[in-house]
This record gives sequence, structure tokens and C-alpha cells, in this order.
Amino acid sequence: MSRRTGAGLAVVAGAVLLAACTSATGGHGRTIPSGSAVTSSAAPPSSAPASTAHPASCTHYAVPDPRRPHMTVRFTIAADHRTVQGTERVVFHPDRPITELVFRLTGNTRPTVDEGNKIVVTSATATPGGGAPRYGTANAAASTQGGLLRIPLSPRVPADGTVTASIGFVVTLGADSFDRFGRSGPYAYFGSAQPLLAWERGFGWHTEDMANFPAESATSEAMDVDLTVVAPAADTVIMSGDPADPPRTGAATRTWHATISAARDVSVAAGPFAVSDTVVDGVRLRLGAFDAATRDALVPEFQRAIRELGTRFGPFPFPSLSVARLPASGGGIEYPSSILMLDGSRLVAVHETAHQYFYAMVGDSQALHAWLDEAFATYAEELVNHDQRDDGALQAPGRVDSTTASYGQDIAGYYFTTYNKGGAALLAARQAAGPAKWDAALRCYVARNAWRIVNPDDFARAMRSFPAGLAVLRQAGALN
Ligand SMILES: [Zn+2]
Repeated sequence: MSRRTGAGLAVVAGAVLLAACTSATGGHGRTIPSGSAVTSSAAPPSSAPASTAHPASCTHYAVPDPRRPHMTVRFTIAADHRTVQGTERVVFHPDRPITELVFRLTGNTRPTVDEGNKIVVTSATATPGGGAPRYGTANAAASTQGGLLRIPLSPRVPADGTVTASIGFVVTLGADSFDRFGRSGPYAYFGSAQPLLAWERGFGWHTEDMANFPAESATSEAMDVDLTVVAPAADTVIMSGDPADPPRTGAATRTWHATISAARDVSVAAGPFAVSDTVVDGVRLRLGAFDAATRDALVPEFQRAIRELGTRFGPFPFPSLSVARLPASGGGIEYPSSILMLDGSRLVAVHETAHQYFYAMVGDSQALHAWLDEAFATYAEELVNHDQRDDGALQAPGRVDSTTASYGQDIAGYYFTTYNKGGAALLAARQAAGPAKWDAALRCYVARNAWRIVNPDDFARAMRSFPAGLAVLRQAGALN
């Protein structure tokens, strides 16, 4: 998620506008990586070694775990855009024994519900051995079922066993909310709308509280995704996976269908978009906006972001990027191979595109270690946009590696420490280490940790050759 540049911190129309992160960017030389040798494994070739989830290679992205979950999800958007009927089927192979399944109900986050959104689970079963569903509060809005859906399993499912869940749900979309969910004029949009399997390999279930402000707080594995969206026939759908538009047949609805080989989540937007389809460095870029002029101004910004970030971090992680520029105010919200954009700035374009590397491909716990995607997206902004910044963030108190919940209601503190201070710490570490060598090591970190969920120790290990850089990050409380 991003916040657009503003003078100081202000709340406008429900959106938080954060002061630009303005520290010197240090090295301005573009380092061209040996990126051309890196191949995306978003669609790994059939010859890819199935057991090498993260081989020790800097020249190829690690392949997704062959035992990753498979999610089939179908959304049917009502003609009036006020509700979305959903069905979801998840086939899951846990890497340790489990006695329940846990799904996160992001739509029931308190500020999200305050804006008229919610999710109601209407059915939830699991085989083998699934019992009646239960709900955990997890700081969700009191008026809802809760923040966590739990399906008990008896007997337990052994490590590497298989369990299949089938869930029905209804999402309500509020008007003009700055969030993952909403309606704005003739547009509807939603992300993290389906119950999200809350598992991390090597960790277990993530049951952290929902945040008190509209920041991300989920953790989810990269999954094989089969995504279907049924929308009113007059709409165009902009969604993860960038499927071709179905023909208009005179029926009341049209159906879009995409498969994505490694996605932690999905987003969908529907409405009368003015659409551009271009190809940038082999990446299909679909950009839909609420008018043609806005579309035409944004297309080159995303083309630039894809090129510049590809140069810095490696080839774009997905075969496509779908951007929905909505007529609402706010920032942007990142999803795998898709972006919901509520702000038309260059800053947001680069920030959210950078999240395709940090969050979508190199995953993290957005509740426990949010800086592992937000500080990196902020860092990428500044490297690419050469913002001139001096906001004192690096000297400000507060540990960069703090949980989202630890900020309580302090949304400004969360953004300042996680984004500004975290981004500034990464820039300062790069300067201390030497930009060229640091950049090369960072590309290795990205390649080796593709499609995983990382922890701060993974980053420290990847950068262990740079004691001066690590000292900067420790001083900032990003690392222990
Ligand atoms: Zn962000």
C-alpha cells in the first residue's frame, strides 16, 4: 500500500497522505544487472526441478513450492455492484500436522467495515474430517462474524497430507472507501475479498489481529490460482492474471477467467474502464482508467516503472500487470500481478510496481515484518524517482521492524517508521556498503527468495558481506 506525496501528514477523504520520503538517494548510477539471465518462474518450465524450492542461484528465480496450495475462486458481481457472491475451494498440503484450517477475513477489518464493507461466510466445509466452522475476533469489527474463519479437523491432517476446503461467502462493497473494497460511481473493486488461507510454511497459522487502520496485516503463501469473475456485461474487468476480454453476446453478464501459477492473493475491478493494452519488456501491461486522458498519462508511468525496476531487481515477476485506476482518492494497493490505484502519481506507480517484487514474489508477514515489503517499495521509489528527501526519518526513534499491531491507532507512526525510516535505512545501508555490490547482492536476495515468505534474518543472511550496511539497519531497528 502506498500514500501519495503531500506536505505533511493529513487525512483527506479518508485517505492518509504522507509526507514524501526525502533523503538523498546516494548513488545515482543505474546498475545494469545480469538480469537478462534471470528467468521468471511465475510459469516455470515443465523441466524445472520440482524439489528445488529455492536453489542457491542468483541467475534464476527460485521456483514456487511444488506443494503450494491451489485456490479456485469465483466472484459474481451484482448488477448494482453492491455485493459480490463468492465461492472458494482450496486444496492444501500442510508441511506439519494440523488440527484446523484458518482463513483471514480481511473484509471485516474495523475501518473497512466503517466504510460500509464486510464479508459474510455462508458455508464452510473441509474434507477429510472438517467440523462446523468457528470464528475468531482478531480485532475485527464487532458487528461481523470476525477476522478469522476456523474449520476444525478431526482426525488431524498429517504433514504433507491433503485437505480441501469449500467456502461460500458474500462481500458487501461500501461507497467511495479508500480501501481494498469499494464502489465509486459505476466502478466496483475488491482485493483480499476471499477468505485467505493464513498459513506460512515453517511457521504455521498466522492469527494476528487485524490492523486498526487500513494497512495490510495478512500473510499468505504463493498459491496456484484459478480465478473466475462474472460481471455485468457492460463492465470491463481489470484483475490479477490479465485474461482476455470475453465477447459481448447479449447476455446480462460476461465471465473472465485467469490462472496464475504463484499468487498470494488477487484483486478485481469492474466498470466502464478506458483500457490500454501494451507490452513492456515482454510484460503485458493492461491499464484501465476512468477516462482516456488519465489512462494515457499513466501508461508511460507504468511502462517506466516496469523497465526501471526490472533493471534494478530482475525481470518482472509475472507475465502481466493489470492496473485499475479508480475514481477515488487515496494511494494504491498492491496485489500479485495487479494494482488497485486510487492516486495517479508517479510515486504510487513505482511504489506499487515495486511491490510485485517485494510482497508478491518475495513474500513477508505484513503483520509481523511489514518493512520487508513497505520499506523496500519506498526504497525502490527513491532509487527510481531520485526524490530529494530530508525528513529526518533515519534519526527518528522507533524500530523499523515493529509489528503493525504495536502501533495501535498511531497510523502516522506506522507509516513514518515502516516506510520512511525503513526506506531511508535501506538507502543509507546501500551507501555504506557500496551501491554496486549492494545492488548485486540484493538481486541475489530477490532471486533466491522468490515465491517464499522471508524474515529479517533472511535479508541479513543475504547481505552478510556488508557489515557496514548491516550496522545501519541494526541501528534503525530493522535487524537484530
Ligand atoms: Zn506499499
